[in-house]
Amino acid sequence: MSERSESTTGRAAAPKVTAESEVAEICRDLIRIDTSNYGDGSGPGERKAAEYVAEQLAEFGLEPQIFESAKGRASTVVRIEGEDRSRPGLLIHGHTDVVPANAADWTYDPFAGEIADGCVWGRGAVDMKDMDAMTLAVVRDRLRTGRKPPRDLVLAFLADEEAGGTYGARFLVDKHPGLFEGVTEAIGEVGGFSFTVNDRARLYLIETAEKGMHWMRLTVEGRAGHGSMENDDNAITELCEAVARLGRHQFPLRITKTVRAFLDELSDALGVELDPENMDETLRVLGGIAKMIGTTLRNTAQPTMLGAGYKVNVIPGQATAHVDGRFLPGYEEEFLAELDSVLGPRVKRESVHSDRAIETSFDGALVEAMQTALRAEDPIARAVPYCLSGGTDAKSFQDLGIRCFGFAPLQLPPELDFAGMFHGVDERVPVDGLKFGVRVLDRFIDAC
Ligand SMILES: [Zn+2]
Repeated sequence: MSERSESTTGRAAAPKVTAESEVAEICRDLIRIDTSNYGDGSGPGERKAAEYVAEQLAEFGLEPQIFESAKGRASTVVRIEGEDRSRPGLLIHGHTDVVPANAADWTYDPFAGEIADGCVWGRGAVDMKDMDAMTLAVVRDRLRTGRKPPRDLVLAFLADEEAGGTYGARFLVDKHPGLFEGVTEAIGEVGGFSFTVNDRARLYLIETAEKGMHWMRLTVEGRAGHGSMENDDNAITELCEAVARLGRHQFPLRITKTVRAFLDELSDALGVELDPENMDETLRVLGGIAKMIGTTLRNTAQPTMLGAGYKVNVIPGQATAHVDGRFLPGYEEEFLAELDSVLGPRVKRESVHSDRAIETSFDGALVEAMQTALRAEDPIARAVPYCLSGGTDAKSFQDLGIRCFGFAPLQLPPELDFAGMFHGVDERVPVDGLKFGVRVLDRFIDAC
């Protein structure tokens, strides 16, 4: 029996499933799978999420692979053949783990995936089960309607991003680099979200750079002794002076090429000249996203932990502190030299963990494809580059020579404190934002 004759039997046709119609549901399903990452392996792991993702893709004939780096720490990868297989591939990556959430602080249970007030609520709603869901919804729709991407797509849904990616992106890049064979470009978090300047301009911030990090342990050795005695070489005193100097130190303003490009675009959108030397004024204009931009204007080093001593009447021979240092692309050497000069010769500095800064230029066909896709759905859209102060899995993919962008398109209501949603209480994403995102993503894939 043909389709036509079936539809004439008078049975009501089922509502047509589209990317827009199912994206919120997929996002809610993912939020309901608790993938809290405590950073010490004590969480539930990402296995269930990896299986869910694989099922969503397998339903339309793909053969996704699940890679387990440690018990329960699973990632899902699949390659979708493009029209022109001679062209380099595009990676779309997202992480499935989330930071933990304390339910008592939330309006709705952070793992219930409540849909209320036009939003999907829950841990991971913006970081980043939203993009995972958008990717799945768009790819499912393209498979359902038989629309091949113009070139190969590799989709990676990754474990462990929130703890540095050791059991996710880093593991796959080191142990299974063949999965990314021929891939030259990638999109992932944290970018593509909107910032409404006025009724004539809406910026969409595309991440083209990330600060690097140095987590450090500082140690001062002094002369141990009785607490009742005079001691001119007290390790605690020496260390605290150095840590206080560092904590109060302001590193100099450094306008990287990404920040420069961002300021140029913003000046243009506002129709006013922005003086990079007067960033206070510029940050005032930026409202909610000022804290994201402000921290990408300089290197930073924040003392975060202190340790010394074991008894009130004993002067210890050693005192330690930990510092979270972040440096701009191109300024790592300057950062370390300045850090050492502020700390002084008494402080021994060791690395606990470090990762590179990355930066790519805001140009080329892929950037054009982002601009075009955004503009088609939002006439006042303007894609602008920005630097992320934190790090993402992009750092691992950079090792394979892949050019990485943060592009997870979302149109947001101006009043939503988007930056505050990341790892925040009452994390939520507007359903309309998700629908906008799938439309843009679908157009972007067409044009990639
Ligand atoms: Zn994230």
